[in-house]
Amino acid sequence: MIVCDGLVKIYKSADLEVVALQGLDLRVEPGELMAIVGNSGSGKSTLLNMLGGLDRPSAGKLTVAGKDLLSMSDRDLIRYKRETVGFVWQNNARNLIPYLTAQENVELPILLRGRRRKARALELLEAVGLQDRRRNRLSELSGGEQQRVAIAIALANEPQLLLADEPTGSLDTKTSDQVLDLFRKLNRELGLTIVIVTHDPHLARKVDRVVAIRDGRTSSEMLRRRSYAEELAELERKGAESAAAEEESHVEYAVIDKAGRLQIPASFLEAEGFKDRNKVRVEWEDGRIVLRPPDADET
Ligand code: ADP
Ligand code: MG
Repeated sequence: MIVCDGLVKIYKSADLEVVALQGLDLRVEPGELMAIVGNSGSGKSTLLNMLGGLDRPSAGKLTVAGKDLLSMSDRDLIRYKRETVGFVWQNNARNLIPYLTAQENVELPILLRGRRRKARALELLEAVGLQDRRRNRLSELSGGEQQRVAIAIALANEPQLLLADEPTGSLDTKTSDQVLDLFRKLNRELGLTIVIVTHDPHLARKVDRVVAIRDGRTSSEMLRRRSYAEELAELERKGAESAAAEEESHVEYAVIDKAGRLQIPASFLEAEGFKDRNKVRVEWEDGRIVLRPPDADET
């Protein structure tokens, strides 16, 4: 669904250049539900804006659903935004109108007319579990419900890819769990590919793959040992008391880029022997690559 190779984005202003993405590699399979994490300023929103066609990359390669977003004409980019992707932001105010009802808000972007439009809006509200609240004004809905209206709107034109930038950023844990459950349901039932940007580790633990961005590059990747569905099934079988430690559910991988560079987790570099060093010994040992502190006389 998504292929990013050496993706670069540079923001230029009069006297300043910010390299927001510096050679980012990422692949996302059709039907994946994955999360992107990283500190503030690491380039997460920049990446999502590129994926959504809201802004153009400066260099590198980016294709989504087989479409090349670097060489695409402006006209094709507009169509891409309308037909291929759906967007959900943290701040609902950006896509919603407070004095209209949930249903009216959902009807707005639908390109159909008359009864077909109403029917489609109802279908979307059902998909996000809001059919009973459809006549309420937006201002009468809770934060989580408003976010579900925003998700219904993002789905209005049947996108293949749903992009969500900090979708639970302003919600409490329980409500953000419900939003994530909805993403999972849409992923499973519609086969929708979903990319969620978050800095919430709690949310990130609940998807099958998490990619971490550091300084505009992918630095590490966590893969679920078992699918979330398997884990839920097991929990139901064994009861809640056996709930495995959440940290155990993912394996962490460091990403090796095309030049063979690899980012070592910062916590490892704090260890005795590695701290404040700028090199390590790299050795091949029985099919493993081993990193050791340099010998004393080498430093
Ligand atoms: P994140 O979403 O991970 O917090 P962003 O993608 O928003 O990070 O920002 C990455 C870097 O790019 C930051 O240094 C930010 O200041 C800069 N940046 C983002 N958008 C713009 C812009 N429109 N103009 C200039 N710099 C920007
Ligand atoms: Mg951001």
